[in-house]
Amino acid sequence: MRRAFYLLFLFFLFQCEKEAYNFSNEWLKEKRIYVYGTPPLDYLKEVNGSVIAWSVYHGGLNDEELDYVRKLHSEGIKVASNFPTMQASPSVVGSNDLEKYACKDINGNPVKALWIQPNSPYLPCHNNPEWQEFLKRRLREHIDGEVDAIHFDEIEGIGGHLYIAGFCEHCMRGFRRYLSQKFTPSELKSLFGIEEVENFDYREYLLSRGARGIFDDPNKKLAKEFVIFQLKSRKEQIEELIRYAREYAGRDIAFGGNLFFLTPNKQIFIDDLDFSVSENFIELPPDGKYMGTYLLTRAISEEKPFIMFPNIIDLKFMSLINNYETLPLRIMESGAGGEGFLIPYRAYIFGGGLSTVKGTATAPPEKIRNYTKMLVENPDLFNGKITGEIGILYDFSCALEEYAEEGYAYPYIPSGKVHTGSLGMALYLQKKHIPFRFIYEGDGDFVKKESEDINGLRMILVPYPPCEAFDRFKILKRAEEMKIPVHFIPEGYRIWNGEKMDFDFLKSEILSTDAGEDVGIVAAESDNKTVVHLINYDYSLKEGFRRTKPFYVRICGKEKGRGITMVPGGDPEEIEIKKENNCFSFLSPGFEIYRVVVIEHNQ
Ligand SMILES: [Zn+2]
Repeated sequence: MRRAFYLLFLFFLFQCEKEAYNFSNEWLKEKRIYVYGTPPLDYLKEVNGSVIAWSVYHGGLNDEELDYVRKLHSEGIKVASNFPTMQASPSVVGSNDLEKYACKDINGNPVKALWIQPNSPYLPCHNNPEWQEFLKRRLREHIDGEVDAIHFDEIEGIGGHLYIAGFCEHCMRGFRRYLSQKFTPSELKSLFGIEEVENFDYREYLLSRGARGIFDDPNKKLAKEFVIFQLKSRKEQIEELIRYAREYAGRDIAFGGNLFFLTPNKQIFIDDLDFSVSENFIELPPDGKYMGTYLLTRAISEEKPFIMFPNIIDLKFMSLINNYETLPLRIMESGAGGEGFLIPYRAYIFGGGLSTVKGTATAPPEKIRNYTKMLVENPDLFNGKITGEIGILYDFSCALEEYAEEGYAYPYIPSGKVHTGSLGMALYLQKKHIPFRFIYEGDGDFVKKESEDINGLRMILVPYPPCEAFDRFKILKRAEEMKIPVHFIPEGYRIWNGEKMDFDFLKSEILSTDAGEDVGIVAAESDNKTVVHLINYDYSLKEGFRRTKPFYVRICGKEKGRGITMVPGGDPEEIEIKKENNCFSFLSPGFEIYRVVVIEHNQ
């Protein structure tokens, strides 16, 4: 009998050993399809999804979702939780005593998160110690809930809402501390007229000058310091939360965040995170093209996954157009850019309620499964190094300076000329079929990233007006030494606003084609292969996607090789590759949304 128990015990031990889940961040390196929400397993299988993000524990740990997480783990699916950090609502916090967390407006009234409707929750203050403690408690719950990753929503903190908030007692105290640490008493007096910093209250200071917000501060330098204080204190908080969570977890755990539109006040968190699942503005093709955004994130951090998602207003629109017919384009565009696109499953929609969408959005599997399948079955086609002939400089110091000067004044588009100018230039180069990449230079403080290798670039473009920081550009000095021409395009940002500009001197020396402007061409290299992604943006609401005509593509500086072409849902076919001097060329057959041409050079 004893022996039987002993054997039974050993058997259980063996079972536990076999089923113990191994937490490892290795999955971040794999090509996986991310799905929003808490979809059933069947749905995930249908759309080839293997990571859920923005998913469980929105309201904290609960048995039902814990069971679900364990079930997903047993099927090899990874779970990134949903951690709202700026919503003090009963459903998130689990209590009704919430006003105490709220940050205040300039008149001292508690502020609400108006992007959540109806019943907007209070907007908590990241500088509030009680809220900081709540977030730590909540982090522990997510870890006890056995998630692979924690996804910070609203990562910007109060620093992203200074058009309305930022004036509670905790913010005022924090700003006093920031000023006294950064400046000497005599500097405080001469720069800002502050006599005794321990008695300084920025809200009272503004009110006494008749200001309705920081944009009315007669001392712009002080307003800028306030913005930097709010960004810095949030970054410190996020770093502390991550440190705390890793210590508590004592195992591999990853951190993601919503870097909405990748604006400067979100870029400051990239160094701290392992991946991002980010909302973005998504306009309709042909104008809505996002290769620039993908290449910008690659320049900031090539190895970290960046998964794009439509913001809650655009998601509603996308769900309404002919049953998500533009979603396959978004999936393949992100794949060509080496990144990902989040598949919506019962995703929250701002102002939902129309009978066709019923307040949430879910992608129909039959619309997308061929596309997601192509991505997961051919990871090597979507991991290559993207060919860039022209570099667009994105200088973070300039972008941040611009944000600090005016970005805080707007709720949704605090992007400025540096940001929109750079992405607008990317749009232009994509239309003109000029291969480009971004060159990113951090400020060494908020973003550590040093400017990268500029070898192989034929030209560098700076598509925004000169900012004060220009002489700080190490990269431009290096370009000068290497005799790489640099062009300043002060009006470049206007392209974003749809104004036509012609830059005749911008031509590609390596890629030529007779494809129309609405075809996107992205060439990448991996393992002795050239992978050419062809994307069709020729779309109208009335006619849907208009199939492309056949067109030629010639790429120079490369040997000819064996050619294969494929469209989603189809089999690979041979394609003839011709050799012309130092170039190769092919004739692409017409296609509806996406085609890939792969040239294997050693065959
Ligand atoms: Zn506050």
